[in-house]
Amino acid sequence: MENYLSQRLQNMEESQTIAMNEKTKDLQEQGLDIVNLTAGEPDFFTPDAIKAAAKAAVDNNFSFYTPVAGYMDLRKAIAGKLQRENNLTYTPEQIVVTNGAKHALANAITSLIDPNDEAIIPAPYWVSYSELVKLAGGSNVIVPTSIDSNFKMTTAQLEAAITPRTKLLILCSPSNPSGAVYSKAELQALAEVVAKHKRLFVLSDEIYEHINFVGKHESMAQFESIKDRVIIINGVSKAYAMTGYRIGYSATSLGLAKACTKLQGQFTSNASSIAQKASVAALTLDNTPTQEMTKAFLRRRNLVMEWLQQMPGLRCTVPDGAFYAFPDVSAFFGKSDGTTTLKNDMDVCLYLLEKALVASVPGSAFGAPSCIRLSYATSDENLLKAMKSMKAALAKLV
Ligand code: PMP
Ligand code: GLU
Repeated sequence: MENYLSQRLQNMEESQTIAMNEKTKDLQEQGLDIVNLTAGEPDFFTPDAIKAAAKAAVDNNFSFYTPVAGYMDLRKAIAGKLQRENNLTYTPEQIVVTNGAKHALANAITSLIDPNDEAIIPAPYWVSYSELVKLAGGSNVIVPTSIDSNFKMTTAQLEAAITPRTKLLILCSPSNPSGAVYSKAELQALAEVVAKHKRLFVLSDEIYEHINFVGKHESMAQFESIKDRVIIINGVSKAYAMTGYRIGYSATSLGLAKACTKLQGQFTSNASSIAQKASVAALTLDNTPTQEMTKAFLRRRNLVMEWLQQMPGLRCTVPDGAFYAFPDVSAFFGKSDGTTTLKNDMDVCLYLLEKALVASVPGSAFGAPSCIRLSYATSDENLLKAMKSMKAALAKLV
C-alpha cells in the first residue's frame, strides 16, 4: 500500500530512549542477564504517603473529568511549590497540569511554533525536543557544545544562532543527558541575550530540579525582564518516583496558559484525576523521600565516576545533576577486539551490549555522536557489575 502516513509523522523520529529501554527489556525477558543503563526513570518506588493519597482518591470517587488545566487544589499546590522552593510568583490560572512533562512540552511547542519558525537547542539535548518542533512544522537550530565547555552553551553561541525566524530557545538544567547544571550567573547572561529579542521564548525544562548535587535550583523564570516569555516545564515523575502516574505541568504567562488549555481541551482533556490527587500529596507533604533519593543518586554518581575515570580512552565530565553519565567514547572509534571494528557511538553501544551485557543509549540520539549515555538510576550492585564488565570489555579494544 502507498505510504498513507502524514508527512509530518514520517519526518519525526521515534524516541530513542524509549526504544532502547524497550529493546533491553525484551532481551532481559528472553533470559539475557543485561544491566539496563538506558532507563531514564528512578528505580525507587513511589513514597507511601503519595500512594495513600492515590488510594484515597479512588475511594473518594475522584473518577470524573477534572478541569482541563487540572484540579484547582493541584494548581494551587504547584503555585505554592513555585513560591516556596523557587521564589517565583504564579497564580493557579497560570499553571496547566498535563499528562507528564513531555505533554507540557508538546503543548508549549505546538502553541508557539509555526512552520518556518526556528527553535534553538543546545546539543546534547533530550530526544523529544527536536522531534516536537519538527512535528509543529518548525526547524531546529542545533548549537553543539562539548565536554570541553562542560556541555553548556555560551552567550556568544546563542547570539550567533538567533535569526529573525527564531521563536524558541530550549534549555534543560539539570540536563538530560549530560548532567550539566547552569549556574545563576550563566543563566542570567543567557537571559540578557533573550531580553534583547522580543520574539524569543524560553522553554525551560526543570524536571530534574531536585536531582542537583551542586546546590540550589536556579530557574530561568527568575529574571523579571523575560519571565513572561519563559515557560517552566516540570512535573512529579523524577522527584517523587512517579513516572507512571503521568503528571507534569507548565507555568507561563496567562495568555500562553490559556492557549495550552485550549489545545489540551481538544487533544487529551485533563490528566488522570487519581494521579492529580496523588500529586497534590507529592507537592505538599514532607519531601524527605526526595532528599533520600537524591542522596542515593549522588552516591551512585560517585561510584560510576570512580570507575569511568579508570577506563583509559573514556572522557567524562562529572555530572552535577540528573542521573546520567555522558562519557565521550570517540577514542574507541576505529578500534577492534579482533572481530568487530567500532565505527561510531551505536557500534560502541552494541559492543557493550554484546560483550559486557550493559545497555546504554548512543549519544547521536541526543545530537552528540561522540558520546554514550549511561543512566545510573539503578542499584549500586547493578552499577558495580556494569562498571566491571564495561571496563574489561573496553580494555580488549586496540
Ligand atoms: N524532560 C526531560 C529532560 C526528561 O528526561 C523527561 C523524562 N522522560 C521528560 C521531560 C518527560 O517527563 P515525563 O515522564 O513527566 O513526561
Ligand atoms: N526521559 C527518560 C529518558 O530520557 C524517559 C524516556 C522518554 O520519555 O523518552 O530516558
